[in-house]
Amino acid sequence: MMHNLKLVEKTDLILRTPAQPVLENELDLIKEYSREMKEIMLQYKGIGLAAPQVGIAKTFFICGPEDNVQTTIKTWRNARHYKLDHHFGSDVRTIINPEVTKIDGEMIPMIEGCLSLPGEHFKVLRPDKSTLSYYDINWKKHTESFDGYMSRVVQHETDHLNGIMIDKKGIKTDINGG
Ligand SMILES: [Zn+2]
Repeated sequence: MMHNLKLVEKTDLILRTPAQPVLENELDLIKEYSREMKEIMLQYKGIGLAAPQVGIAKTFFICGPEDNVQTTIKTWRNARHYKLDHHFGSDVRTIINPEVTKIDGEMIPMIEGCLSLPGEHFKVLRPDKSTLSYYDINWKKHTESFDGYMSRVVQHETDHLNGIMIDKKGIKTDINGG
């Protein structure tokens, strides 16, 4: 079944509102949503997309794949902090009901963009390491530690599920200027 999802406008209040947890009996629907979200994310060359960004007030996001992440890292001039780890995998992953249970490491500033804020960039300070508990698309529970670039992505997307966007968290930056 097609749900005809699309990116909501940046003024949509769903982006500023905490989403509701996914229940196990919603998994089939989440799989359908994930497939459509993947199409949207790849169309816009994104590397992460949270459900509220396409109008779904549920706590899950997708991220990856590694090839797109490689391309993105090359275009972000301050990404030198990050070696590419292989957390991402070659396909897009669905992360359900994530909770950041631990943060650690240096606070690192980096310029981030967001598919919900087209053309805008913000310098955002985030801890280098984070531990996430979440369910995967088969409702298996995981606790996984991330560092570097993937840690940043999962924090950015988990923020979305809490109604937090980078325009409130970071400092607006012109990536073409100084
Ligand atoms: Zn975003």
